[in-house]
Amino acid sequence: MEQKMYINGEWVSTAEYAELKSPYTKEVIAKIPQATREHVSAAVEAAQRAQQAMTNLTALERANILYAIAKAFASKRLEAATIISRESSKPLKYALSEIDRTIETYRFAGDEAKRLIGEMIPMDAAKTGENRFAYTLEQPLGIIAAITPFNFPQNLVAHKVGPAIAAGNTIVLKPASQTPLSALFLAEIIDCTDLPKGAFNVVLGSGGIVGDALVESDKVKMITFTGSPAVGIQIKEKSGLKRLALELGSNSGLIVDRNINIEHVVRKCVTGAFSNQGQVCISLQRIYVMEEVFAAFVEEMIAQTQSLKIGSPLDETTDISAMIHDKEQQRAIQWITEAIAEGANLLYGGEVEDGVLLPTILANVDRKSKVSCQEVFAPIVSINKISSIEEGIEAINDSDYGLQAGIFTKDIQTAFTASKNLSVGGVIINDIPTYRVDQMPYGGVKQSGTGKEGLKYALQEMTETKLVIWNQEGGL
Ligand code: NAP
Repeated sequence: MEQKMYINGEWVSTAEYAELKSPYTKEVIAKIPQATREHVSAAVEAAQRAQQAMTNLTALERANILYAIAKAFASKRLEAATIISRESSKPLKYALSEIDRTIETYRFAGDEAKRLIGEMIPMDAAKTGENRFAYTLEQPLGIIAAITPFNFPQNLVAHKVGPAIAAGNTIVLKPASQTPLSALFLAEIIDCTDLPKGAFNVVLGSGGIVGDALVESDKVKMITFTGSPAVGIQIKEKSGLKRLALELGSNSGLIVDRNINIEHVVRKCVTGAFSNQGQVCISLQRIYVMEEVFAAFVEEMIAQTQSLKIGSPLDETTDISAMIHDKEQQRAIQWITEAIAEGANLLYGGEVEDGVLLPTILANVDRKSKVSCQEVFAPIVSINKISSIEEGIEAINDSDYGLQAGIFTKDIQTAFTASKNLSVGGVIINDIPTYRVDQMPYGGVKQSGTGKEGLKYALQEMTETKLVIWNQEGGL
């Protein structure tokens, strides 16, 4: 039950341990070592020592290491998914699909390792560029500190570890305190590959100590962070001149036009709003429905939500389980109560059953209610009536966030207008904003962050472009 951290290719004990409890059963499932600042320094130094060995690897060797990680996940799919379900209460069916995506993410990273290309520069396009021949090289940055959230403890780690290895960098990973076991499982997998020892390290402990020490380290070249806007802003303030990628939260919105197949659209909306208890950065939080179909849409939404199965995350038929912490559940209930006091109608849920907050549907929600204007990160969705598509676009844009948005419509011009005018990082036509595959560019605007993930795009952020100019004049 007592775990060890992974530093410099070795399993390390610490003086202090914290109990890790299952969010669903509340029983202690492991004792987690708590790193001090010295452990963080040891991990950073190990990563620094390993940099030369990483730089010496060929693109093919880096690709093969990433393919080996993917293969190991494929052969341990159920084991990896069960760990996620135990420590984060993600229902097993969603944990299994996370592992399937993790396998793809490492494969895509392997492919990108072989495509790390620079470009030729037409030097002689400038008056003084004659006889010069130039090209760029994409070189590793150095040590990358990856700080990750609880909600996708393998795939969002893969989005950092994969491109970091593909580019030839070394890594120190600090996972969320609630999901350390998935990070240690990854360390076990990586330990069996040809990755040089010290090139990948896992340090465990609170964000305030371990995360802070990484952010302040002058040897770390880049912080790649996925998590809440509040922590992301703190990191930005402290990280000085380090390169920074911030993948933060949102309150994703969807527009539903008239003349759509209500049963089909609602099926997608129920998945988008409630999978992983709404604890997804692109969870569907706000739905704006054209008035002609509003009543039928709401009725179907309630009917389909009623059929969701509440229960243990380890049961493969469960749709909804416990939220990550009781205090998060209390916050969610408080926000529902406030929204109702501010005029919203509770259409379904709003109560706790066997420790699980029921999927909750609110209608006619005031824009200023927290469930609408802040990131709700709970199984709560708001449905509001609109009388024009423009009204829906304006409502979605009236937000501090902008990760992804969706629209269901049969009208090409309406889809085109929405794609042009929605202020978000990605617009999904005829699907929910919760849609993502792992090679696509992914990242938000406004308080949803800076920088893009998706292997090719993350790789660009994790390399340094070096210019080489050859002077071909005679006369030497
Ligand atoms: P969080 O509380 O911000 O934590 C994220 C990570 O930051 C954890 O490892 C946490 O450690 C660490 N941390 C906390 N305080 C820190 C500090 N002062 N310095 C450095 N690191 C610190 O987020 P979460 O609750 O785990 O995840 C939910 C959030 O992530 C939501 O806002 C969600 O939208 C966002 N998210 C965004 C994306 C995206 O791609 N845009 C994807 C998934 C999730 P501890 O666990 O020890 O506190």
